Amino acid sequence: MYSPLLRLPRSLLFTLLLLTACSGPSDVHETRFLMGTLVDYTVSGVDQDKAEQAISAAADEMQRIEDTFTIYGDQPNAVKAFNKEPPNTPVTLPDEVSYVLGIALHVQQQSGGAFDPALGGLNLLWGFSLDPPPASPPSADAIRAAVPPSHCIRRSGAQWLRTDRRCQLDFGGIAKGYAIDRGIEVLRQHGITNAIINAGGDLRLIGSHGKRPWRIGIRDPRKPGGVLAELDLKGDKSIVTSGDYERFFIYQGKRYHHILSPKTGWPAMQNQSTTVMAPSAMLADAWSTALFVNATPPERPSSVLLMRVDKAGHIHGKLQ
Ligand code: ADP
Ligand code: MG
Repeated sequence: MYSPLLRLPRSLLFTLLLLTACSGPSDVHETRFLMGTLVDYTVSGVDQDKAEQAISAAADEMQRIEDTFTIYGDQPNAVKAFNKEPPNTPVTLPDEVSYVLGIALHVQQQSGGAFDPALGGLNLLWGFSLDPPPASPPSADAIRAAVPPSHCIRRSGAQWLRTDRRCQLDFGGIAKGYAIDRGIEVLRQHGITNAIINAGGDLRLIGSHGKRPWRIGIRDPRKPGGVLAELDLKGDKSIVTSGDYERFFIYQGKRYHHILSPKTGWPAMQNQSTTVMAPSAMLADAWSTALFVNATPPERPSSVLLMRVDKAGHIHGKLQ
């Protein structure tokens, strides 16, 4: 169970992890726009050419993953094709999609259904990926009609099927983490041992920052730039935050955001942010979304939680 360890002044209550790495003598920084967010690459301790080549290869790999998993845009992919298949038709998915889907369904099961990779139709109905986001929620009837039955994506031997038309794959809660893991792997293949990939507050770090650990800042998400606390981390750490401030709109004084309750189809309102440290960025990503929706899942691996900010702004969990 979570214990409220910290109670802070209201202005400091809302947190989000943000990389605030100070530049060191041999840091190379690059920023790319990927997966709907700015992705920062920081590589330390190698010469500029080597770092730039490695970052470029990592960014290409992450772009490939975005293209493979996205449900947005006009380019066809296997995920979009799956979402158009008639119900109960077994489909072969690429191995990589199959692998991530298997992990997603495992987190769904472990989180008591809080994480659900079948909310694609509902997600498109809400339209949070639109720029600008919509000004008001869809009608309650439309939402009710778009909520898929739970556990509607099934294995059929080595293939997959959906049991219902409302059931549409959406990897938005896990693919960014997977992409970060793949990006780190590519950096390593290029001989990089000290680096951070930070995709809009979802990050994985390896090694250290010269003789020091990497420094990660926790900021006040309602006040960009305000730092709440700092973590010094080294080795191989993945830290991901899900929050109600990334994609949202305010309608009649109420905040509507992009993390949805699979039970109701409406934004999950228990928390403002959840921050998770896990063995991979993929798991941290999925669990940060799952914990956001359901703060006390019955079978939560104890290694995953870092902290949670509840609806009232109280911080639960510890920072390290
Ligand atoms: P972000 O993408 O801002 O880092 P998350 O990792 O929490 O935030 O993922 C939110 C995305 O996950 C949504 O945009 C949507 O695509 C998808 N999603 C929304 N609700 C859920 C849910 N309950 N389970 C799984 N995925 C979800
Ligand atoms: Mg997530």
